[in-house]
Amino acid sequence: MACRSGCPVPGTHSSWGECARAARIQIDRHGLQHRSLEKAKDRRLSRYEDAVRQGLEPRSTTWRDINDAFENGGAEKPLVTAQDMAPAVAAATPKED
Ligand SMILES: [Zn+2]
Repeated sequence: MACRSGCPVPGTHSSWGECARAARIQIDRHGLQHRSLEKAKDRRLSRYEDAVRQGLEPRSTTWRDINDAFENGGAEKPLVTAQDMAPAVAAATPKED
């Protein structure tokens, strides 16, 4: 038997070395997938940090809650909408005429 004991497809490799190489390729693929999952998690967490920095309070670090916080200003804080800010902005802006 050329294959290693842990080979997922025993008998398909002509030598132990080929079997080991095939296994290593599979591990690499897993590693890549893991890394891209990690990257996605990093993006999510930095988005979460953005929200917190803006004073939003996402209920959790899930995309749904983060996006919810951006859309609704977070769950716990009083809602401050663009309309609420508008009078202050208008008052601070000098009129042209
Ligand atoms: Zn094998």
